[in-house]
Amino acid sequence: GAIIELRRASFGYADQPVVTGANLTVRPGEVVAVLGPNGSGKSTLVRGLLGLNDQLGGEVELFGQPRESFSDFARLGYVPQRHTLSASVRATVTEIVAVGRLSHHRWWRPVIRSAQDTAIIGRALELVGLTDRAHADVATLSGGQQRRVLIARALASDPDVLLMDEPTAGVDAANQQVLSAVLARLAAQGTTMVIVTHELAALADIVTRIVVVQSGRIAFDGSREEFAARTGEFTSSVD
Ligand code: ATP
Ligand code: MG
Repeated sequence: GAIIELRRASFGYADQPVVTGANLTVRPGEVVAVLGPNGSGKSTLVRGLLGLNDQLGGEVELFGQPRESFSDFARLGYVPQRHTLSASVRATVTEIVAVGRLSHHRWWRPVIRSAQDTAIIGRALELVGLTDRAHADVATLSGGQQRRVLIARALASDPDVLLMDEPTAGVDAANQQVLSAVLARLAAQGTTMVIVTHELAALADIVTRIVVVQSGRIAFDGSREEFAARTGEFTSSVD
């Protein structure tokens, strides 16, 4: 079955629709790039399917269950576009990444970090190249480093599907390459991914499908080949 299924779904804010009539099916192993101009509704679409903003119509299913009754959040990893690692958060990089393990703990037991958790957290930090900052206060990291902390947090949750909203925005070229390699490895392992991006070229090797959002509607949904054949229509929306 599908991992994500939207049927005529509409999302917005306080009854104001932004994304309307979205039909989208994401199957296991797919790597979907979501493209579109600023303000077209990409983040609203991703946040909406996760239930993080208002759903104004239609249906959303996650792993075959209506989203309202879905609770297996260990299966979902999400990297938001705008992080909430504000300057007022007093936490180390390791503590933030450890949040990714929480959904694997039974809520009725005290959360005690196991040796396995520690190993997975260490591995996630290594993958994003932040091992040497593990014990730093997260507020002292740069913007690009903080984005990599959020990616490590999502990786640490070991999800079946990763939803990433512009994961490499503000990340320097060398670290973008590192992250592209990480995503390529995850794709090879069969992790399903939905990646909102303005940098398709960096992901071109792993993307299996392209979705273009324009003015709140899914204006294109197809293979890379189909997209390449029609790219002229969408060039302005890719960047
Ligand atoms: P970008 O490429 O800049 O990230 P986007 O495609 O992700 O753009 P969204 O963030 O989904 O665009 O925004 C789509 C529309 O929804 C915009 O018109 C925006 O003003 C509006 N919007 C976004 N967030 C909110 C909010 N919290 N409250 C009200 N309106 C919002
Ligand atoms: Mg956005």
